[in-house]
Amino acid sequence: MCLSIPVRFFQFCYSLRRCGARIAIFFLVSIGLILAISTQAQNSNFRKKKISIETPLTVYFIDVEGGQSTLFVTPSHQSLLVDTGWPDHAGRDAARILAVAKLAGLDHIDYLLITHFHIDHVGGVPNLAQKIPIGTYIDHGVNRETGNAATQQAWENYQKVLAHSHARHILAKPGESIPLAGVTATIISADGNLIDTPLPGAGEPNSYCKDSPARSPDETENARSVGIVLQYDKARLVDLGDLTWDKEMELMCPVNKLGPMDVYIVSHHGTAISGSPALVDGIAPRVAIMDNGENKGGSPSAWEIIEKSLRLKGLWQLHFSTQGGSQHNVTADRIANLQGGSDGNYIRLSLYPDGAVTVFNSRLAGQAAERTIRP
Ligand SMILES: [Zn+2]
Repeated sequence: MCLSIPVRFFQFCYSLRRCGARIAIFFLVSIGLILAISTQAQNSNFRKKKISIETPLTVYFIDVEGGQSTLFVTPSHQSLLVDTGWPDHAGRDAARILAVAKLAGLDHIDYLLITHFHIDHVGGVPNLAQKIPIGTYIDHGVNRETGNAATQQAWENYQKVLAHSHARHILAKPGESIPLAGVTATIISADGNLIDTPLPGAGEPNSYCKDSPARSPDETENARSVGIVLQYDKARLVDLGDLTWDKEMELMCPVNKLGPMDVYIVSHHGTAISGSPALVDGIAPRVAIMDNGENKGGSPSAWEIIEKSLRLKGLWQLHFSTQGGSQHNVTADRIANLQGGSDGNYIRLSLYPDGAVTVFNSRLAGQAAERTIRP
């Protein structure tokens, strides 16, 4: 009898020679099994790695009827909501934000960034804060447009929410970053101040400054907007809130401090007091999304600057613009809401690390709702 381990395997050995052969087979099979398990584990890791590399930064453009509310969900599932739309309307905008947040699989908002204190941006905060937990508020500080009663009231209502909340509060400063994992979110503008130095890779002279006549300084909260650039690997996106033409000129002339962008969230809902050629042609976006309302933003001149931009492959609008009429609106398949009022369709944009972009129009869900634009 052979005295070997495991005993059960060798208990029927009846000769030394046969037993040796069985031992060899046992070790060969064991090594084979180990190699197979190890290869499978490597493949599994590779697949996991590949999936995580290809996970997009997802951006939802929520219809708040001409205000702004843009929800970013990072590949690691952190959330950054930029603005909250209007108050009133029976909590319409907060309800729409909550519905999209649920679609995105969120039960809280990590960061809520308020670009400025106009009522179409900060107005929805009291309603929203009652519906979903908010981890950190980011804003530019105090209301600079105290002569505007509606703006002052909106700011005071926002202060009450901050005072009663246990959330953190960050005062936005140009050049600083919002702490997101895997995505760099740089603050470009805040309270009328701008980044001093160009972003990495930017800093070239901007040849489009000559196409942008100087305009007098905007004295409202618009010029105080907190603007951000998000960088996800090679992909770049800019959202400057309602930053105005005069500030764009400071930011982009004579030196282009932003550099090229894959995605432009159209400033100021496509209103003509923003969106200069110095900005739009300077960043030369490949995709632009305009968060206009039926009767707010979507100005023909601002629309045309975007449409003629050299690298543009696709402009989408949250609404058909009445003032754009038949000449200055994109085709219906790129408009989320063909009429104002109670539509509430959203646009979802997926930004991949190589700069590829997929845009989904929720109005066309089930039809040809999705378009992909490769780098
Ligand atoms: Zn606005």
